[in-house]
Amino acid sequence: MSENHLPTAELQALDAAHHLHPFTDGDELNTKGARIITRAHGVYLTDSDGIEILDGMAGLWCVNIGYGREEMAEVAARQMRQLSFYNTFFQTSHPPAIHLAAKLAEIVPGDLNHVFFNGSGSDSNDTNLRMVRVYWALKGKPEKSVVISRWNGYHGSTMGAASLGGMKGMHKQGGLPIPGIAHINQPDWWSEGGDMTPEEFGLMRARELEEKILEIGEDKVAAFIAEPVQGAGGVIVPPDSYWPEIRRILDKYGILFIADEVICGFGRTGNWFGSQTFDLRPDIMTIAKGLSSGYLPIGGSMVSDEVARVVNSDEFAHGYTYSAHPVAAAVALENLRIMQDEKIVDTVRSDTGPYLKAKWEALAKHPMVGEAKIVGMMASIALTPDKASRAKFAAKEGTVGLICRERCFANNLVMRHVGDRMIISPPLVISRAEIDLLIERARKALDETY
Ligand code: PLP
Repeated sequence: MSENHLPTAELQALDAAHHLHPFTDGDELNTKGARIITRAHGVYLTDSDGIEILDGMAGLWCVNIGYGREEMAEVAARQMRQLSFYNTFFQTSHPPAIHLAAKLAEIVPGDLNHVFFNGSGSDSNDTNLRMVRVYWALKGKPEKSVVISRWNGYHGSTMGAASLGGMKGMHKQGGLPIPGIAHINQPDWWSEGGDMTPEEFGLMRARELEEKILEIGEDKVAAFIAEPVQGAGGVIVPPDSYWPEIRRILDKYGILFIADEVICGFGRTGNWFGSQTFDLRPDIMTIAKGLSSGYLPIGGSMVSDEVARVVNSDEFAHGYTYSAHPVAAAVALENLRIMQDEKIVDTVRSDTGPYLKAKWEALAKHPMVGEAKIVGMMASIALTPDKASRAKFAAKEGTVGLICRERCFANNLVMRHVGDRMIISPPLVISRAEIDLLIERARKALDETY
């Protein structure tokens, strides 16, 4: 037994007996037992046997400032003592919500000067779905209600967010997608680009947006939603031709654009927001995860002056008990202070990001690695038996990825797999020495999988 908890086997048995895990095969968990994480500091997790694991995923793409920051704990404790909860419904507010909203208006680009607070990324996208429909209804165009999104995009797990998402496995669960949502194909050149160049393919996939708008009727389309870089879909970095063409189409038809920055926001792509990295100019931005570095759950919908002017009315009948939870808001504010004071985004852009990029792209020389993609500190490699033809493994899609993920875990590195793509998204505070260790362990896992 280590530390102050039960022996690992007992914890695993209790876990298997009573705990339903998200996105997890319970039978597999029963057989293998969960790896139980008991503490974390910086970029390292410690498991119940005292083993240190390098967290190449920043939890779930969220622990941007790293684990175990004393200042965050102190702010949370102070705020809990002072005002543990109050809401912002019905003509009340509180300082953490006010200061966080003002800080976000300062750092988010463009005129996205207003925030509606939510509890997570999923319910932020539910807010957005309802908000764009209310927006057009209040402008006298209630028929503009369809939202276009992308296959293999991920926008969350609630009914609305999973419908906006393009994860076919989730849609199979019945009743999804809910009405009024249409999907177009993703810009994944490696898997779907065939004989086209990446640029030709990027243009073709972007033009599907125009085709879909015309098919539905431009007077019926409310908004388009997309992640600047698809995260959970496998860190799919679009070809350079993609975003400028999408922007042209959005401008031409005047539909709202929701940039889902739940992963890309708060430094992940080397700028504060992915919308800056790709010049997206959204009307609405979904934020969560890195907003608080995962220390407490909080999300938000940032909206433009124009959207706020229209929807800031009791016609928008919407809100969550924990919208702008004071402790979560205070913690998010402290997180942003740390990011600004320590110039974390600048370091990613000019130092550790380029350092990781050079090492990551060199993985493409490994015999089993096809393309290696990276933007800031989110990266993927495609595993393949034949680089030239971009072939897939004969085994069931994802089997090789799963083996590689398990080899990473056995080598004390958290790296995720999406099908046969391996992905990382480490804490943004990762040092050069820790990047070296991450790459060393990733290489070892690749060799053991090969
Ligand atoms: N949007 C994106 C782009 C995400 O990656 C996620 C989660 O991974 C969500 C939304 C959903 O966020 P949450 O899990 O906080 O509900």
